[in-house]
Amino acid sequence: MKLLVTGGAGYVGSVVASQLVAVDHETVVLDDLSKGHAGAVPPGARLVRGNLLDDEFLRGVLGEGFDGVLHFAALSLVGESVEEPGRYYRNNVCGTLGLLEAMRGAGVPRLVFSSTAAVYGEPRNVPITEDEPAAPTNPYGATKLAVDRMISAYATAHGLAATSLRYFNVAGASGTLGEAHEPETHLIPLVLTAAAKETPVRIFGADYPTRDGTAIRDYIHVEDLGRAHLLALEAARPGMHDIYNLGNGAGFSVRDVVEAARRVTGRNIEAIEAPRRAGDPPELVASSAKARAELGWKPEKPALEDMISDAWTWMMSHPNGYE
Ligand code: UDP
Repeated sequence: MKLLVTGGAGYVGSVVASQLVAVDHETVVLDDLSKGHAGAVPPGARLVRGNLLDDEFLRGVLGEGFDGVLHFAALSLVGESVEEPGRYYRNNVCGTLGLLEAMRGAGVPRLVFSSTAAVYGEPRNVPITEDEPAAPTNPYGATKLAVDRMISAYATAHGLAATSLRYFNVAGASGTLGEAHEPETHLIPLVLTAAAKETPVRIFGADYPTRDGTAIRDYIHVEDLGRAHLLALEAARPGMHDIYNLGNGAGFSVRDVVEAARRVTGRNIEAIEAPRRAGDPPELVASSAKARAELGWKPEKPALEDMISDAWTWMMSHPNGYE
């Protein structure tokens, strides 16, 4: 297939782009490089630089003709979204609206969208199934939910074959591709930076109603997550919008992550207890039963230590990220 990967210079998008190239899909990456890195665009994929808010640019790109779009380009920091909701709605919602319109204009039949567990807010039931009512607690999650609903409407009205994948906590690296955010806010890269630089890491909240008082998350290897996109692309049906949660179904606390990172790195990582971070729910763990049953997806690297080990190897070989 000929596929467009928006945000394909970012962490998850670049891994998916490389997986598409590996199975001989003609792959075009669309990225404005505001967060992504040209060095993360895999060899064999073509980079087109531009922004989703530019309708004319989008019409031109989509007008080339594509069999499908994998849409990753978005702003994704919870705290930032609370402070600058307008920027998040404009980028994530208006940007996707422009993309959907350009796809419709050019007759592009398939879409796989990068959604998030943040749409569930503070879930009533854990592990979280796709039936859990969506109730985001921050603008980031709200923008992703708005896009999910927009996609459903386009599938119904215009026959789009669409899938939303709701990611839990993505971790690990894939060969030369790894996680390099600026600023970095995610736990695993921050714990590993603390290991590398012998600085302390902060534990945001030690008073959660969990087994060790710290927040519990479901970590999924970026390669496993990536493979789900290829399966979703094959399974998408015209006029249908399918939604799948993607995680391992196992919860690890912040302390579990720090302990695992100590074992992997062999370094004594100092952890300091700090106040909770605004908007962080106590526990997010996925049920991926639907993805397993309907997409035939199964994680190949479910062990937390493997994810941390791959992230550590990447960090050691890329001390300055993609610089
Ligand atoms: N966290 C932490 N210290 C850090 C960064 C994150 O204790 O320096 C916690 C955070 O509060 C959350 C968990 O680690 O409970 C995972 O955070 P991350 O930002 O990696 O992902 P999120 O679940 O927020 O998408």
